[in-house]
Parts: sequence; C-alpha cells; structure tokens
Amino acid sequence: SKVFSPFQFDNSFVRSMEGFFEPWQGARVPAPAMVCFNQQLADELGMDADAMEDSRLAAFFCGMLTAEGSEPVAMAYAGHQFGGFSPRLGDGRALLLGEVKDIHGRRRDLHLKGSGRTNFSRGGDGKAVLGPVLREYLMGEAMHALGIPTTRALAAVTTGEDIYRDGIKPGAVLARVASSHIRVGTFEYAAARGDHEGLRELVNYSLKRHYPELEDEQTPALALLNSVSRAQAKLVAKWMGVGFIHGVMNTDNVTISGETIDYGPCAFMDTYDARTVFSSIDHEGRYAYGNQPGIARWNLARFAEALLPLLAEDESEALAHAQTVLDGFAEVYTNEWLAVFAAKFGLKTAQDGDLELFMDFLTLLGELKLDFTRSFRALANSLGDTAAAGIEALTADSARFAPWLTRWHERLGREYASQSDFASDARALMQGVNPVYIPRNHLLQGALDSAEAGDMAPFERLLEVVCRPYEELAGYGAYALGAPEDFGPFRTFC
Ligand code: AMP
Ligand code: MG
Ligand code: MG
Repeated sequence: SKVFSPFQFDNSFVRSMEGFFEPWQGARVPAPAMVCFNQQLADELGMDADAMEDSRLAAFFCGMLTAEGSEPVAMAYAGHQFGGFSPRLGDGRALLLGEVKDIHGRRRDLHLKGSGRTNFSRGGDGKAVLGPVLREYLMGEAMHALGIPTTRALAAVTTGEDIYRDGIKPGAVLARVASSHIRVGTFEYAAARGDHEGLRELVNYSLKRHYPELEDEQTPALALLNSVSRAQAKLVAKWMGVGFIHGVMNTDNVTISGETIDYGPCAFMDTYDARTVFSSIDHEGRYAYGNQPGIARWNLARFAEALLPLLAEDESEALAHAQTVLDGFAEVYTNEWLAVFAAKFGLKTAQDGDLELFMDFLTLLGELKLDFTRSFRALANSLGDTAAAGIEALTADSARFAPWLTRWHERLGREYASQSDFASDARALMQGVNPVYIPRNHLLQGALDSAEAGDMAPFERLLEVVCRPYEELAGYGAYALGAPEDFGPFRTFC
C-alpha cells in the first residue's frame, strides 16, 4: 500500500547524539483508535492533509506503524527523583519518533508516551492508560492557552488493551510535541558515565537547538547553564502566577528549553495555601506550591554539577562559575515573579514596596481560605465603572481587605498617568492575565471518569473552556467555581 508520510521528518538528535538513545519500535496493540486529535497543532506542524484522513493514523500514533522518515528511538537520561539519584532512567514507556520543522520554521519533537516497554523500562509495563493520557492532554493545552511554555498534545489514541493499574483500565498512548526532550537528566546521564566528550557534544547540540545566539560563547557550558537558569526561573514564576503545582519536579522532568514537561500528578491550586501538595507520593511536601522556586534552584545545582568538567579547566574556577549562576537564580526568579504578579495586580512594572503589597494580599487569601484564581479575577472585575462584584462576593470577611484595597488603589493611581482612566486600563491588563477558567480538579476528575466510561463529551467541553481561559463564556459560570464541599481533599496519582 501507499507510503505513510504524515510529516517531513528531519531527525537531528539521532544524527548528532549517538549514545543518548536506542533505536526502538512501538509495541503491537490490538485495536488502535483515535480519541482526540489536535487539528490546530497538526496544521501548525505542517501535517499532511491526506494522512489526517488515513486509516493508519491511529496505528502511527500508538507507535506500531513507522512513518516514512521517522526513526523512533528511546532516549537515555538519568535523574534525581525526590532527591535520590538514578544513573539510568530513560524512556521506559516513550519513544521519540523524530523531529519536524513547523510552519514557523521551529524544530519540534514528535514523541509518544505509552508505546510499550523499552530497554529502559526496569519494572514498568511500558504502557499508559486513558485517564492520565487525557489529563496530560488537557493540562498541556490549558497551560499553552495560559501563555506558559509547555509540551503540547497532538493526539490521544486508545489501544484496545486492558491495562492493570488500580483495577483494569483502557490502554492509551499520547502523542506529544515539544521543542525538545533534552532535560537536566540527559546531562546527568553523560556525567554519571564520565562521558565528557558526550557531555560536550550535548552542550553544543543544546545550544544550537535552543540558544543559537550563544553558540560562539567562550565557555558554551556556562552559557547554557545561565540560559537554562533564566528559562527555568521564568517558567516557575509563570507557574506560580496561575497556581500550578507540577508535583514531580525531578531533574528528568526539567527541560533545557524551559517548557513544562510531564503532566503526571500535577494540579492547579484552588484555595490559596503555599503548602498545597496534591501528589499522593509526595509525603513530605517536597514539591509543594511554595517550594517550587527552591526546588528549581536545587535542580539547577544538579545541572551545574553535571556540567562542572566543562565550566573551566580548573576545578575551583568551575565551582566558582557554578556558584555565581546559582547565586543569581534568586534575583532572576524574584524579578520574574514580580513581573508576573505586577501584571496580575494591574501594574505594568514592579516598584519598591510592591513585593510587600503583593504578599500581603496573598496572606489575606491564605487567612480567609479564598480561591486563588477567583480572587484575582474578582480584583480585576472590581475596577472600572462597569465593575462586577469584587472580592466581597467571595467572603463575608471582605472588610479585612479594606486597608489593603486602599493601598492598592493608591499604588494604581501612581502607576497610571491619568487618575480618571487607570481603572479601565488596569482592568484590561488584569483580565488578560488572570484566568477565569483553569482545569478545576473536580471538573477534570469528572471528565476523565466519564471518558473512561466511554463518554468523551464532558472532556471535550472542558478542553474547549480551558483553551479560552481569559474570556467569560456565557453559560459556563460553573466552570469558574471551586470544588463543591463534598468533593473533599484532592489527591493525584502518577
Ligand atoms: P516520570 O515519573 O513520569 O518522570 O517517569 C520516571 C521514569 O519512570 C521514566 O524513566 C519513565 O520512562 C519510567 N516509567 C514511568 N512509568 C512507566 C511504565 N508504566 N513503564 C515503564 N517505565 C515507566
Ligand atoms: Mg518524566
Ligand atoms: Mg510521568
């Protein structure tokens, strides 16, 4: 039959990075069937229109049919998981199918998750199941719509297999797109093997791919460390701005590109509390909301360690370079955080005193146990002459906010030239960065339960809503609310 050629593959990683992957094939599965397809992203990737209609598409997206030009590989990486180091993790249930240049000329990885066992599988079955696959699909798309760098979902397919998890679940595979799958753990893999040459090649490859303007720097590894430190500071500040808790910030889940990757036990915080943890395996709250910036720095320290032999010829000089970058992380992160939160409060820039103003608001949210997302949106809506209900609609204790609101209004007045029209400008700014809709835990859980039972409609509706996070959509008021009382404490499993 006709060659199956959905993409123009150009596989630079396989060409350049021998030793960091093993060629591999997806497992055969009984009945591949498409459940979700991201048409917009497919178009962006320049996917062939005939292939979109081809009956072999589902088989391709579960890894059992290799397309023309695809060179599937399982990628090698190491990683610190909850603080402990594993020198060999790797794609135990995933495959890199290859790279595609999108219509904007950007190189994107096409990758499968759940495509069967590989040489990196250790004890696992190499499989994924429908609920978590759809969870990753929706979370990634929601993050993208929120303007946060992330891997994205291209397709979800069911395999027709029964998979034993906590009961029998429908097998599924996620096809995802990333600007690359190079992680801190990829560098740790080479470092742990004492492979300095491989490490050097990986640095050069990563710079060429993600930071090409730095390729000619005198110390490429130091330039990379600096750039990744900035990218991660930016990323985590954006997570904090929407109340996102990644849940498993292990070094194998920290990308060099600065994209969010691996939506396992992640969830959005509802009631504001910096100690919030959702993951059932995060017993000590290592990856709690408020710990994320500190953990990002810890992960960067592991990155610096892996790069150490390349940071300078002399070891103490290398250590000094690493220390300088790590010391700088706090300042970079604080500035990113201030920029994110300034906008959330309707301010174009952060000034002296703003950190305290912002923190005081968060402290009030914590004391009154208010919903993070709704509170910021209410604050936005409280400005301007068409003002909808403000924070007073969320709590009977709104008098507690009065002194803070006075300080905030005064600050807005200083920011905007004209006293009279700052309200509408500030309100527009705030409404563009404070979402109405986030993937609410109770809604997502309900949608995944329905999907498992064969009804995709609630999932599709929720996906549509979280992909338009900043518009108030008529008839979708319930999607903006927190969980009902009887939903109870939420736990995630990976
Ligand atoms: P994660 O916690 O998703 O970042 O995965 C950590 C490691 O566990 C990676 O090496 C994965 O490939 C591997 N892994 C996770 N689930 C499975 C599974 N069901 N079968 C085989 N390997 C797995
Ligand atoms: Mg992972
Ligand atoms: Mg995972």
